Amino acid sequence: MGCCWSDATADQVGAFKFWRINDERNPCRVTGGTFRGGLVAINAFYEWAERRYGVMNPVERVAVPVAGGRRQVDSYRAAPRVGRDRDVKWLDPGGFTRWRDVGLCGLDLSGRELSWWRGRSPQRDCAFVGGLYGTGLRLTEWASMLVLELPFDASDRAFVTGQLAAACAKGGVRRKYWMPYPALSAVLSYGEGERAAAVRRAQAVGRYDGVADRLVVRRQLGGRRIEVVDVLGRSSAVSLDALLARLDNLAEAHQRLTSGEHVSGPAAELYRDRVHNAQRFTGHVLATHRDARKLYTNPDLQIFPGVGMTCVFDPQRAACRFSRDDTDSRRTPDLSDCQPYCANIARTDGDIDVLREHVQRLAQLVDDPLAPEPRTQRDRHELRRLRTMVLDHDNGRTAPHD
Ligand code: SF4
Repeated sequence: MGCCWSDATADQVGAFKFWRINDERNPCRVTGGTFRGGLVAINAFYEWAERRYGVMNPVERVAVPVAGGRRQVDSYRAAPRVGRDRDVKWLDPGGFTRWRDVGLCGLDLSGRELSWWRGRSPQRDCAFVGGLYGTGLRLTEWASMLVLELPFDASDRAFVTGQLAAACAKGGVRRKYWMPYPALSAVLSYGEGERAAAVRRAQAVGRYDGVADRLVVRRQLGGRRIEVVDVLGRSSAVSLDALLARLDNLAEAHQRLTSGEHVSGPAAELYRDRVHNAQRFTGHVLATHRDARKLYTNPDLQIFPGVGMTCVFDPQRAACRFSRDDTDSRRTPDLSDCQPYCANIARTDGDIDVLREHVQRLAQLVDDPLAPEPRTQRDRHELRRLRTMVLDHDNGRTAPHD
């Protein structure tokens, strides 16, 4: 912006906004929402610098009238006005259901099917928008979800939890999401209904026959494995988590521990023991499937990194529904159903870094004056919980040296 950060004024902030959002010389322009997130971070930085070094904060604040002018909320003068310009209205569940029924299902206002309606694939469309609305995931995030990644079908629950893969999540950080059961049920019904019919139609006219190296998924096994059948009818189990990757993770964990990594949480001690004991497997030769199976089930290798936590799995103390494979000899935790009070949880410095990022993101979200109140309350509660964990971890690290 042509000046030192400590000399920046509101004009520089305005110029920065133009460059980030509109300037055609910028090959990486961003949307208003992204700029707003950046502006919050810049303001936080200058608030800190103001206190610490007496630097003037160039991010100006203004009072914005809301609720038809009856109230005012604090905002930034340079905040993009995308929400207002587009006259955003929040769609409540009743409004959403009406929009879905009329717009996608071809029903009239009394719930009867319109005779002239010719929807292309209403079950698919309804399941998709139901998932989008129910989970709050971004369009690309929800569209990238595989059937295998969907949460377990648990009809006794109002909400089910799933994990969004890092490669598909905004920011590249794997995270958990919640989904109302009806939304999951709609997706599963589509898989067994319209989708299955479409697949059968394609099979009947031989559309898949031209794919030479096709693999057909026969069923899902425990331990994040699937059974696939190739064109010659040979079946094999494909692991979604390789054993080698697990050993590599443990070797890295051991290195971090020996360089002084702090671990907190109820299973911290067990984590340290297992990581230490697992080093005896380094260089182990696996001659047979039985060797691999034995190694796979060794208690010292039952450590599963999650999002902001590490599961030191002990089936006797597990608070989630853990998955079993076909022979029930291998059990793995269901990280997508991880319960925060479980005695198997340990938190490494790496996990805490992930939690710190969550804290930062949530702190921005709870400051957003345009966010709906129920979501803000939920975020505030989560923010308090995460801050306590980070604090406990940091206190635990310094305590022995005080
Ligand atoms: S609840 Fe979480 S920590 Fe406990 S066993 Fe399940 S996945 Fe592991």
